[in-house]
Amino acid sequence: MGWVNFEVRTKRRAELVDITERVAEAVARSGVADGTCNVFVPHTTAGVTINEGADPNVASDIASLLAELVPKEAVFEHAEGNSDAHIKTVLVGPSCVAPVRGGKLGLGTWQAIFLCEWDGPRTRRVEVAISAL
Ligand code: ZN
Repeated sequence: MGWVNFEVRTKRRAELVDITERVAEAVARSGVADGTCNVFVPHTTAGVTINEGADPNVASDIASLLAELVPKEAVFEHAEGNSDAHIKTVLVGPSCVAPVRGGKLGLGTWQAIFLCEWDGPRTRRVEVAISAL
């Protein structure tokens, strides 16, 4: 069925945006009962990860600690001024995979899929492909 994509409009320079419902819609539309769901973000200053979605403080804690680990004001050579965003994207990665079972995303009870914005606000694209096993 190929890749489908949707856009996410982020609101802050750095934030984790829960995109689980959008991905779940793509899974439902695919008609695949059992398989894998691949999520890919074609950006160098935004990534994707799976982590706790039940308590929103977890996502904000992740963003806060990564900001401490990779300070925006550190000395970098990249002249665009957003090296921190590139490095944070390396840490979370550009893609993730989740199981599809019974036609639904097979995430763990507390898991959600997050677009990780590190240089917003911007419009980001998320690409999704569902493959049957
Ligand atoms: Zn850059």
